[in-house]
Amino acid sequence: MMPYRHILLTADFSEHGETIATRAKSLARVFQAKLSILHVLDDIPMPDTGYGTLIPVDTPSEYDLLEAERGKLIALGAELGVDPADLWLIWGVPQDEIVRLAEKIAADLIVVGSHGRHGLALLLGSTANGVLHHASCDLLAIRIPTINDI
Ligand code: AMP
Repeated sequence: MMPYRHILLTADFSEHGETIATRAKSLARVFQAKLSILHVLDDIPMPDTGYGTLIPVDTPSEYDLLEAERGKLIALGAELGVDPADLWLIWGVPQDEIVRLAEKIAADLIVVGSHGRHGLALLLGSTANGVLHHASCDLLAIRIPTINDI
């Protein structure tokens, strides 16, 4: 099997993020791959900011909501031993920005979480599904347990 060389972990800082992050870190270790982390800012208002705008991770912001997300990304990066230069904060729509960044940094594996939503037809959550249909590299969807799985 060809080893993966650059893994992109997508982090939404939700409840099961730890499981997904640990899995991505383990894979990076096994393949001796570079690990990058992306958080897409999609749940805080960013007036006058166009989709796809890169927010500098190394520059403190006076905007509290942004500062909180920046802090979470830096903390996750430190926990996983990721080079600060490989932490990405982008304003936009998660599935679009994930696909776009993966191409830009030449990631060969994207790691996302996936929900078994509503138990019936949907195996993948919406973001995972969108990335699957548009990414040009491999995608690893880590199953996130839902209430329906218990
Ligand atoms: P969802 O489809 O929203 O349930 O999200 C599924 C997975 O997509 C999450 O576990 C993350 O891996 C990724 N994801 C969702 N939203 C974001 C975001 N804002 N930034 C980065 N990754 C995200």
